[in-house]
Amino acid sequence: MSKIHNFSAGPSILAPEAFEKSIESIKNFAGTGLSILEISHRTKEFEAVMDETAALVKELLNVPENYDILFLQGGASTQFFQVPHNFLRTAAAYTKTGVWAAGAIKEAKLYGDVRVIASSEDTNYRYIPKNYEIPTDVDYFHCTSNNTIYGTQMKEFPKSPVPMICDMSSDIFSRPVNTSDFDLIYAGAQKNMGPAGVTLVIVNKELYSRRPEGRAIPSMLDYKLHGEKGSMYNTPPVFPILVSKYNLEWVKRMGGTEGMLKRNTEKADLLYKAIDDSHYFEGTVETEDRSQMNVCFVFKEPNADLETKFNNACKEAGISGIKGHRSVGGYRASLYNALPLESVQVLVNVMETFA
Ligand SMILES: *Cc1c(COP(=O)(O)O)cnc(C)c1O
Repeated sequence: MSKIHNFSAGPSILAPEAFEKSIESIKNFAGTGLSILEISHRTKEFEAVMDETAALVKELLNVPENYDILFLQGGASTQFFQVPHNFLRTAAAYTKTGVWAAGAIKEAKLYGDVRVIASSEDTNYRYIPKNYEIPTDVDYFHCTSNNTIYGTQMKEFPKSPVPMICDMSSDIFSRPVNTSDFDLIYAGAQKNMGPAGVTLVIVNKELYSRRPEGRAIPSMLDYKLHGEKGSMYNTPPVFPILVSKYNLEWVKRMGGTEGMLKRNTEKADLLYKAIDDSHYFEGTVETEDRSQMNVCFVFKEPNADLETKFNNACKEAGISGIKGHRSVGGYRASLYNALPLESVQVLVNVMETFA
């Protein structure tokens, strides 16, 4: 069988060394003679993993001192309601740039007034809205940095007069960000950080003073408590955190977020050029808002016969996971950090040979 080129939108490809180290840790974790799957999270060996993973996040994203770095569960979807539960007192401003953003809006409405201040829903989310004004009389502003399903990405972030909260699930660690501009960043790990099962939250501790008066916060939803307990209030997702650590060590070795930006730009440029040069394919979103993580494209003129032929050619070349999301159709090639340029080259070759 030929090598598999994994373009999956998530859970996604991870660095090969993360797998090798993870396999070893299942057999014999940190020289304990026990598996990572069967030891207490309170052992000094695992506490070291928590500390090292948080330190990596801090270093890679330049996280300021007064922020907590949390490893939680429930996916980004839990953040959709945990954020407003902790911080929505009366009103919040949201941008609506895709299905995930819409999910965050839906949950926030359970807690108060949600103002959708910009939306690209009118075009099935083909672009990133710009030049909107963030009101000053809201508790926070929420945006989604990369729209995984549609393949659009924010290239710039607004200056927000209120705390800025961002769902970075599908492009975290893919490029440098000015973390201090944000008051809370969250990301389900399974797109660009590690395997499914852990959610990264980076939160400015100053936000804790803005919690709604009179609203009870269950312990598991309480960021402040998780921060005080070092994400060990209850049993953390031990194995996904360890695998994430191995993956982030690779990111660091490859030049950190600067290195990833260079690598991801090279891959995305190669594939978008092939799409633009092709007589058969076209991209589905505005050029200036194209995502470096999820590249969406369709046949210019839908043709089931050609699609079957192209799908077969991809399969033969070992290309996996490029079927578009059901709400967009066509193709979506996800170029997350660990995907090598070589895999994009194989896809481009198939596209060219096909033409
Ligand atoms: C995948 C994704 C989610 C949902 O993540 P879960 O961890 O499955 O809850 C939310 N937001 C974005 C941008 C995503 O890509």
